[in-house]
Amino acid sequence: MNLVHLLPVGKVAASLLDDLRDAIPKRLPVRCEILPLTLDPTPSYHPERQQFHSSEILQRMQSLVRPRDWRLLAVAEVDLYIPILKYVFGEAQMGGPCAVVSTFRLRQEFYGLDQDDSLLRERLLKESIHELGHTLHLRHCQDYQCVMASSHSVEWIDLRESRMCDACRYELESCGALA
Ligand SMILES: [Zn+2]
Ligand SMILES: [Zn+2]
Repeated sequence: MNLVHLLPVGKVAASLLDDLRDAIPKRLPVRCEILPLTLDPTPSYHPERQQFHSSEILQRMQSLVRPRDWRLLAVAEVDLYIPILKYVFGEAQMGGPCAVVSTFRLRQEFYGLDQDDSLLRERLLKESIHELGHTLHLRHCQDYQCVMASSHSVEWIDLRESRMCDACRYELESCGALA
């Protein structure tokens, strides 16, 4: 069965990683393991934006991809961006093998609201499945409830399911991405 490796970026709460590792195989037919190493986010920090450039993190992940790695998903707690956007929840290489997601803007505290761990876990799972979908060649879906729908705010993430719609799932199955 295909393998998704989780890669912590800097300091990431162990329980978050454990829960994500357990949750991903319930949404995709894959095995999931946590890599026993950490990627330092500091080289991707840009003081002028006080954020971390996610494309640079993806770039630096390339050296960690090994033949047995089916997909490598980096999990960060820092604020990510790409130059054309104010922020991103995550970024993926279209067609794989690497993707990165961040919890930074998935936390209720970021919006001045009370901490909600189960909501955070749900959002992180949705973002993870979404970015993994991109690594499997899936583009954004018009169905707003599909995990592959685009989202520019957490409100949109909360509207999505953590699973793919029938059309996206069919596309994955017909291209053999999950075989
Ligand atoms: Zn996307
Ligand atoms: Zn879809």
